[in-house]
Amino acid sequence: MKPYDFAIVGAGVFGAWTAHFLRRSGASVVLLDAYGPASSRASSGGETRVIRMGYGPDELYTRWALRSLPLWREFAARVGKDLFHQTGVLWLSSDADVYLKSLYEILGQAGVKREKLGTQEIRKRWPQLQFEDVTCGVLEPDSGVLMARSSVQALVADLINSGVEYRTAAALIPERPGKLGVIQTTSGDSISAGAFVFACGPWLPKIFPELLSDRIFPTRQEVFFLGPPAGRVDFRPPQMPVWLHRTHPDLPYALPDIENRGFKIAFDRHGDAFDPDSGPRVVAPSSIELLRAYLKKYIPMLASAPIVETRVCQYENTWNGDFLIDRHPEHENVWIAGGGSGHGFKHGPALGEYLSSRILRGAPAEPRFSLAAKQTTQKRAVY
Ligand SMILES: Cc1cc2nc3c(=O)[nH]c(=O)nc-3n(C[C@H](O)[C@H](O)[C@H](O)COP(=O)(O)OP(=O)(O)OC[C@H]3O[C@@H](n4cnc5c(N)ncnc54)[C@H](O)[C@@H]3O)c2cc1C
Repeated sequence: MKPYDFAIVGAGVFGAWTAHFLRRSGASVVLLDAYGPASSRASSGGETRVIRMGYGPDELYTRWALRSLPLWREFAARVGKDLFHQTGVLWLSSDADVYLKSLYEILGQAGVKREKLGTQEIRKRWPQLQFEDVTCGVLEPDSGVLMARSSVQALVADLINSGVEYRTAAALIPERPGKLGVIQTTSGDSISAGAFVFACGPWLPKIFPELLSDRIFPTRQEVFFLGPPAGRVDFRPPQMPVWLHRTHPDLPYALPDIENRGFKIAFDRHGDAFDPDSGPRVVAPSSIELLRAYLKKYIPMLASAPIVETRVCQYENTWNGDFLIDRHPEHENVWIAGGGSGHGFKHGPALGEYLSSRILRGAPAEPRFSLAAKQTTQKRAVY
């Protein structure tokens, strides 16, 4: 059989958007996923993901989010699905927060609409939230929420329509160094291609253990959906934006009730090490206690709201949160894309565009995404 131009392993948000841009160049593309696109085990398999432009002083990710949002919107409009909800994103912090100060400046320089808010204004606009420690806020009115699983699955359906071959299959680990001609799957098939992209999220350390077992750290992350009181609209858009409570040490963040799943809340601390294949996906009773204490103090209206759904997902962290997008050092035609580090979803379009330009046109590399820049001790710097 004629080799494909490109074989992409992993149909999460990174693999699917990379397939989109490679296919758009006219190349033949095959896309594989071991569990199906955006499965319950994949990092892209959650219900919703935040898309915000603010990254504190970090211009690079602000630029990428700004590039990605219109591409998400265009895609949603083209396939006629509500994949983006413009809920607004509200940063809640204190006047001493230098991250928020830089964020406000950088958004201004980038031409992003943003609004600075004081304590009184925040209390007046969102009386459901009682954050006594919050003295200032920044609202990004044009940002919001992406429907994660639905978006990736719609993208893969669109890829199939555009001629990409999709297969549910698990690729085996490439054994020999040098140029790769073919990969085998666990069901005994061989796939030949001119170049390969491994966009395997939290599985990357299993696929390339020597290279990545101490450079990508999958951690367990728990998410809760709460059922607001019957007949109340206080926790759904437009009454409730996405918010991030930066003054709290556990870094809570919340998404409004979208598609009636409930009000989503989580703590952005890194959890324990996690195996994406076999890790148990049931939340810990101690986390429920932590959540209840938090609600009682800050969102009393939901203090005893029922938990209507939970999820356990994983981040695939690099040492500092910068993505890993680079060529494999021992296989000249193998590329790796991953290290989403708990903030990668929104950037799928920009990442796909960047990686396809690197592969197709030798576009300049961003040093922060290189393998060489990845250290082996965790020190989170990109949020
Ligand atoms: C709880 C939580 C909240 C988050 N919140 C946000 C947010 O608000 N905003 C944001 O931007 N980001 C957020 N993220 C991060 C974001 O979801 C991830 O960075 C992103 O989804 C990573 O996508 P990926 O394509 O790299 O990995 P994945 O989605 O995990 O995709 C990898 C795919 O590779 C496949 N695969 C693995 N091994 C093989 C193999 N051998 N053969 C074939 N297929 C294989 C898997 O089945 C999987 O489908 C969050 C993550 C979590 C867990």
